[in-house]
Amino acid sequence: MATEPDTDPKPEPKLTPCPDCAVRPGRLHLHGCDVARCADTGLQRLGCGHGGIRCNTVWTGLWPGDAECFEYGFLIKPGPDASPDLEPLPDINRLYMECDWDPAQQRMVRRTL
Ligand SMILES: [Zn+2]
Ligand SMILES: [Zn+2]
Repeated sequence: MATEPDTDPKPEPKLTPCPDCAVRPGRLHLHGCDVARCADTGLQRLGCGHGGIRCNTVWTGLWPGDAECFEYGFLIKPGPDASPDLEPLPDINRLYMECDWDPAQQRMVRRTL
């Protein structure tokens, strides 16, 4: 077995396979995946009713909406009694309240007032 160095010169963001259909980051979700979002509406693809594979989307390695929440600062504490050391969690509810899906960018964008 080849030995790999312990130190990685360029750290990469922690990307994981899709938790439902297990595709790797950068690949289209499998049909029927619970996590996949509809490319047209940004909502869960299982319920979009479009049929076929036209509105399929790519698994980015992050839970849908997480990247936008971190970018816009929509973060909540894990719980009222949570230790301050715990990482804040993306506030997906706020994301859907204050943002709209942009099909051109394939991401949530802040609603313009
Ligand atoms: Zn998936
Ligand atoms: Zn759809």
